[in-house]
Amino acid sequence: MDAKEYKKSNKRKARKKRFSKNKYYYIFVVAIIIIVVAVLFISNGFSFDFSDKKDKNNVGVETSVDKLQNLTIRFLDVGQGDCIFITFPDGKNMLIDAGEHKENRDVIDKYLTNGGKKVTLDYCVATHPDSDHIDNMPYVYEQYDVLRSYRPYLKSTSDRVSSLTEEFNKGVIIDSKSKTNIYADYLNSVYNEKCEWEFFCDSSDFTNSVKVKDGGEYKYTVDFMMPYIEDLNSFNDLRQANNLSAIIMIEYGGKKVLLTGDAEKKVEKLFVEKADAKLADCDVLKLGHHGSNTSSTIDFLNFVKPENVVISCGVSNKYHHPNKETIVNVINCKSDVYRTDIQGTITITIDSSGNIVFNKEYDDFDDKMLFFNGDEIKLQAEKINKVKQKAA
Ligand SMILES: [Zn+2]
Repeated sequence: MDAKEYKKSNKRKARKKRFSKNKYYYIFVVAIIIIVVAVLFISNGFSFDFSDKKDKNNVGVETSVDKLQNLTIRFLDVGQGDCIFITFPDGKNMLIDAGEHKENRDVIDKYLTNGGKKVTLDYCVATHPDSDHIDNMPYVYEQYDVLRSYRPYLKSTSDRVSSLTEEFNKGVIIDSKSKTNIYADYLNSVYNEKCEWEFFCDSSDFTNSVKVKDGGEYKYTVDFMMPYIEDLNSFNDLRQANNLSAIIMIEYGGKKVLLTGDAEKKVEKLFVEKADAKLADCDVLKLGHHGSNTSSTIDFLNFVKPENVVISCGVSNKYHHPNKETIVNVINCKSDVYRTDIQGTITITIDSSGNIVFNKEYDDFDDKMLFFNGDEIKLQAEKINKVKQKAA
């Protein structure tokens, strides 16, 4: 062994000695690293995710409250369009669509307050990219804090979205909608909010639990009931803006409220084929597409069996919604009917025992009118508008 080799061997021996002396220290450090990695895995749903802006699914939260609130669902009277504001028993809020036109922003501001302060929107859903649903969304994102945003898997091809990342702006392309400024402005507003977001699909559901301090635990569920959307690629098969609509079942106190956006017959058929009939049986249905005859087939109504229907449409709208055929289908279904064009904002309140109460903003009209189609309402429009103006 020459001098060089002797030196080397001495070094090796010294390293061995050092390791053996600190063996337990090294084992301890490795164990700590393993534990930290395992905890990170479990808390992130077995995936590494250090971003708060990923399209991952929510798993529901538990909230402690002093006092349990009733669940309220408000179908705001925003003329021809949809805007649904929900307050859950734990005080969390959800907005589904925001209607169209500046003049309807007052209605949004009127209801989206609590004790004189603007509410925080824990959840905000754009059901699909039509202007009567998302035109006022940029206003909402500008005026209100939004924590989590849901939207369909639709890509914008407008040159207004050049600052969006590829990960954010992706999905199917439907030319008539993908290139609109309205959709681009909506996407920009979500992006700039820097909130959590996801493309909704069948697994976007969550159940939140509410613990009341004096005792009692209550649960409510927001179920994205879209069994025909197995993964985001399934949006490719729909190929029509209305059919991208989020189908949402809100469940509390044993009562169920089904909201279908503007989904049309094609989606209703897929829903009837694929959804669990027991889960689809609802107490309240917001009729699809403002009561148009593109939606609400007898098969669909017989499947979801609504005791009450709400139609969200404008007085004397240019599409003549609701349609006669739809009204006949609803009559055959023996549902009670509520309409925003005649009765203004409709508020549903559900308590923890499942007692359900409907409140109407205007109660001045004959019940027969509830079954008038768009053309018949056109003849009554002056009278309806007068009542609404007087009240405002
Ligand atoms: Zn619509």
